[in-house]
Amino acid sequence: MAIRILPSQLIDQTAAGEVVERPASVVKELVENSLDAGARAVSVDVEGGGAVLIRVTDDGGGVPRDELELALSRHATSKIATLDDLEGLLSMGFRGEALPSIASVSRLTLTSRVAGSEHGWQIACNGGELDGPRPAAHGYGTTIEVRDLFFNTPARRKFQKAEKTELSHVDAVLRNLALARFDVEFKLTSNGRTVFALPAAVGREGQERRGAAVCGEEFMQHARYFERAIEGLCLRGWLAAPAFSRAQADMQFTFVNDRFVRDKLLRHAVRLGYHDVLFQARQPAYVAHVALDPRRVDVNAHPAKLEIRFRDSQLVHDFVFCTVEAALADTLVSVKDVARASPVRGATLAGTGASYASVRQESLALAPSGVREYLPLYDRLHARPPAAAVVDAPTVPPLGFALAQLAGIYVLAQNTSGLIIVHMHAAHERITYERLKASLAAQRLQAQPLLVPVSFEV
Ligand code: ADP
Ligand code: MG
Repeated sequence: MAIRILPSQLIDQTAAGEVVERPASVVKELVENSLDAGARAVSVDVEGGGAVLIRVTDDGGGVPRDELELALSRHATSKIATLDDLEGLLSMGFRGEALPSIASVSRLTLTSRVAGSEHGWQIACNGGELDGPRPAAHGYGTTIEVRDLFFNTPARRKFQKAEKTELSHVDAVLRNLALARFDVEFKLTSNGRTVFALPAAVGREGQERRGAAVCGEEFMQHARYFERAIEGLCLRGWLAAPAFSRAQADMQFTFVNDRFVRDKLLRHAVRLGYHDVLFQARQPAYVAHVALDPRRVDVNAHPAKLEIRFRDSQLVHDFVFCTVEAALADTLVSVKDVARASPVRGATLAGTGASYASVRQESLALAPSGVREYLPLYDRLHARPPAAAVVDAPTVPPLGFALAQLAGIYVLAQNTSGLIIVHMHAAHERITYERLKASLAAQRLQAQPLLVPVSFEV
């Protein structure tokens, strides 16, 4: 075949291949446009999981009549004009590709009214054919309706999943956006039924209510707010206590300058922050917002902008890691506490030559009465703040009193809210480990550099 320039419709459709994967990607692009337009409230209605209809309505700035056609044109955007703008980007969009791409694989109508205009204007695009603009009734803001997604691209249509699955993707995308922008009201309906309605969240309390609505009550009960800023880098959010760890990485929400991102560097840094308090196979749950000068991050690295690049990635990584680690340590026991705590019988590790084997022997031989001494300490090391009921009864320590030993390995203890099972050996290891860390911090560990380094994993 000879080389030729592709027809415009086909160019849009190939672009759509990258950014419009399924109804949820349409929702993401449209809602991001609403946010860029300064909307305070965004509502999304879908039918048939988005395959039949996606409608996004906002109260943002709108599109003037004579720009309606441009809005649907390829590489037309109101968000950047120069390379400088691109490098200091704060808007969600900038490529001017979403609307023409979506319009090329659906039947789209765009209705909008700007401040000062007596009525709205509507333009329609039917698989690439423009129609309008014509006058239309509309409040201030914009409504975009996308019908029959992929009606003219059967191959893509075949990849669409059941209505329920597509709806769950739409739901997930909107939840990410709701955690990115607490200040905006979000609504989702499916086939006329409300899926969720989240009022704009004011203050920390409001944000935590939204957090609970999006991530579940249980997450919020176990989560603690944290915040830290240094040298133009800020990190804030909620970290779930280790007790609320998960088998999958399904509750890890990372945002950079209010954009939801699936960034490996950030996830790795947070994970590392948890390394001391979480079993290897478990996944932490958290919401983490990074804010920094937009010039220090490149968002033009992924078609859907889910991945980004930090200019000084090592610094960001270490900042996130240290902040998370410190925030978690804060909720646990302080190093001083551990150093002061009475030692477990016989196990005087610091400064002596006690071998691992002998300590292990000791721990396995511990009688319940010995365990009792360090139960409260163990609890403080690991636990979230004790439940209210326990606080009210100060005579019962959070982990209660030991009742018996099971299989020579577990301590059964009772507190005001029920039965507690403690793995003695693990508890002992933890305490020994914390004591080692404390010694290290206090520089009481004797060290000797080796000529040939030996590395080993523990
Ligand atoms: P981009 O977001 O990259 O600029 P889009 O194709 O998503 O490209 O949108 C094209 C243009 O249409 C935007 O730059 C914006 O000016 C306008 N636009 C789209 N959606 C809205 C909206 N909901 N409110 C106001 N303007 C909008
Ligand atoms: Mg856009």
